[in-house]
Amino acid sequence: MPPKPASVSLLPTVKVSPRGADRLKQGHVWVYRSDVAGDAAAPGALVAVADQRGKILGTALYSSSSQIAIRMLSSQVVENLPGLVRERIQAAIAYRERVVRDTDAYRVVFSEADFLPGLIVDRYNDLLSLQVLTQAMDAEPVRQAAVSELSDRLKPAAIVERVDPRVRELEQLPQKNSGLIHGDKSSTVFTMNEVRFQYQALEGQKTGAFLDQRENYAAAAQHAHGEALDVFCYQGGFSLHLAKNCSKVTGVDSSMPALEMAEQNAGLNGRDIEWIEANAFDLLKDYSSAGRQYDTIVLDPPAFAKSKKTLETAIRGYKELNLRALKMLRHGGILVTCSCSYHVSETEFVEILASAARDTHKSVRILEKRGQAKDHPVLLTVPETSYLKCLIAYVNN
Ligand code: SAH
Repeated sequence: MPPKPASVSLLPTVKVSPRGADRLKQGHVWVYRSDVAGDAAAPGALVAVADQRGKILGTALYSSSSQIAIRMLSSQVVENLPGLVRERIQAAIAYRERVVRDTDAYRVVFSEADFLPGLIVDRYNDLLSLQVLTQAMDAEPVRQAAVSELSDRLKPAAIVERVDPRVRELEQLPQKNSGLIHGDKSSTVFTMNEVRFQYQALEGQKTGAFLDQRENYAAAAQHAHGEALDVFCYQGGFSLHLAKNCSKVTGVDSSMPALEMAEQNAGLNGRDIEWIEANAFDLLKDYSSAGRQYDTIVLDPPAFAKSKKTLETAIRGYKELNLRALKMLRHGGILVTCSCSYHVSETEFVEILASAARDTHKSVRILEKRGQAKDHPVLLTVPETSYLKCLIAYVNN
């Protein structure tokens, strides 16, 4: 059969409001449901996007259930989605070859930031962990293209799919469990900045480790000294890096399974670290009231502001943690303070720290303002791709 000429008329067309069209013209890739005229397409369909006058703006993935109805793929006509997914995976891998150093664990594909909305792939040495977050990426031909391209290019021993049941429910996708989709290995050891970590693909939070902090671990280790406290330590990411330059390291987390893994990681690296299972807020209150002092403190809490509604509570939480940490730092101490809440901007986060500095009468100098590692790219026209803040500060009495 002769190939059909490329034509947008082959795709269902979805019209967006002037506000939606403006957003796309600004370089954003999302259009919310309130800016889409009618329920125009099937779940997960590839659609042509048009403005009110019918002018085609490009090709997008459509979701029938998410508030984000349209996720743009291209300003061009796309007919072969699996082919495009393969090309974009190749480009994502090429980008990592340029920017990733000192690790065999990194994010290979970061959804919108790699123009693959709803696909996240992390590499842990010889294992890949894949997450599918949108209807379109869950379609079988697309999944197959992604899995085959990833295995051809990166030759992993196995690929595991991590399922977030909440996401599947929101996207109205049938429920299923996390599991192996290629190969038959689900644990390995990976190395970043010469520190070794266990990875168990079918356990743990997120896709296993907090790869977005990799460059911050190395920066924190450079400044760290003396006695260190790593608050919200999870499986010991910061703790193990601090141990390179600190005389004593204590890690605190409320999750016992995370601390057990942290202890295994300490063993892998021949480090002796103290792990404490506690609510960080209670522990910091007790320790600061008791006058405990440290030379280095890391604060890396979970995202307190999951939405704009919880912003005020989140800001109070960050303020309290930073206030207590500043109190407990010795003269010349180092504070590494993080926020992974997208809704708290860097400016707001700096202001929280400034306010804690005023309240504790400490002088705080910012040594470094950092973000997520480069394998979690920030796409300038899509602000939502930038979420992690990591301030490293020098604190005097
Ligand atoms: N710093 C870690 C990542 C921290 S993720 C790393 O680099 O790997 C946030 C951690 O906070 C999780 O491990 C979670 O178990 C822990 N956590 C959440 N609420 C807590 C609380 N109130 N007290 C102590 N730990 C808490």
